[in-house]
Amino acid sequence: MASLLSCPHCGTRPREEFTVRGDATLIRPAADAPQSEWEAYVFLRDNPRGWHKEHWHHTGGCRRWLVVERHTVSHAIRSVVDAGMRA
Ligand SMILES: [Zn+2]
Repeated sequence: MASLLSCPHCGTRPREEFTVRGDATLIRPAADAPQSEWEAYVFLRDNPRGWHKEHWHHTGGCRRWLVVERHTVSHAIRSVVDAGMRA
C-alpha cells in the first residue's frame, strides 16, 4: 500500500514527493538573544511520543511549506495545513 499525504494545494500525493524539515513548534530567538538560547534553538530537539507538528516541503509538487501533524509512533496524519496560512 502506498504511503500518501494530502497536500492542501495538490490533493493526495505520494509521501516521496515531500521533504521533512522537522519541528514546526520552535520559536526563533531574538537576534540579540544569549548564545545559549541560540544553541538550544539550533541543536536541541525533543523526541516526542505522540502527536507532533512538523514542517514538510512539497518538493515534488507545489513547493509550498506545510505544517503536518503526525503521530510519531503510528505515523498517522491528523492534519495538513499551509505553513503560511496557520494562525
Ligand atoms: Zn502541494
